[in-house]
Amino acid sequence: MDTIYKQIKEDLNTAKATLVAVSKTRTDEEIMELYDLGQRIFGENRVQSLTAKYESLPKDIEWHLIGHLQKNKVKYIAPFVHMIHSIDSFELAEMVDKQAKKNDRIIDILVQVKIATEESKFGLNNKRISETIEKIKGLDNVNIRGMMGMASFTSDEDQVRSEFKQLKSMFDTVKQTSFSDQNDFDVLSMGMSGDYKIALSEGSTMVRIGSLLFN
Ligand SMILES: *Cc1c(COP(=O)(O)O)cnc(C)c1O
Repeated sequence: MDTIYKQIKEDLNTAKATLVAVSKTRTDEEIMELYDLGQRIFGENRVQSLTAKYESLPKDIEWHLIGHLQKNKVKYIAPFVHMIHSIDSFELAEMVDKQAKKNDRIIDILVQVKIATEESKFGLNNKRISETIEKIKGLDNVNIRGMMGMASFTSDEDQVRSEFKQLKSMFDTVKQTSFSDQNDFDVLSMGMSGDYKIALSEGSTMVRIGSLLFN
């Protein structure tokens, strides 16, 4: 783990990108191994495991929710979650805003965009992005920090690259049109174990890596 962690961190340093260590299905002991190497940002795809791990692990960990989120579960993570990568509707953002208010917090969110051709991937369609973002901007207790996307699960590197290019171009457009007066729309979450190097070369600022780190 030591060697691969250092190698990934080196790749990320060059690109000035942030590592979210995806700890889903890992034990507290495995997570602590990475924590002891200095890692403080961890991501989970399920609310239940996120809250359980938040409770049992050190409180200086920044927890990111990266998986699909149901509105009725937002209340469980609102007290502590650091960033939610998977906002795919205005209604979900509204719920995060409401629960953030209750906890006297402002929660950082990313809008998830559907770039993969596979039916199974969540996220907003291209057409709905700007209108949804404009509506979310009106909410006081969520802070839109950027966008997240997952490429198709395929060995075709050209396809993966072209999906990342598409996301980066949408990100740039939205930044220019809706956030030209703000500096904190600056997170482009793309890249996982199998494709993070392609993602970095296409402008990713945050990668979510699980299996490569923990195996
Ligand atoms: C599991 C997961 C990852 C990490 O995938 P690996 O291939 O294990 O690196 C990244 N993003 C999301 C949304 C995930 O669910």
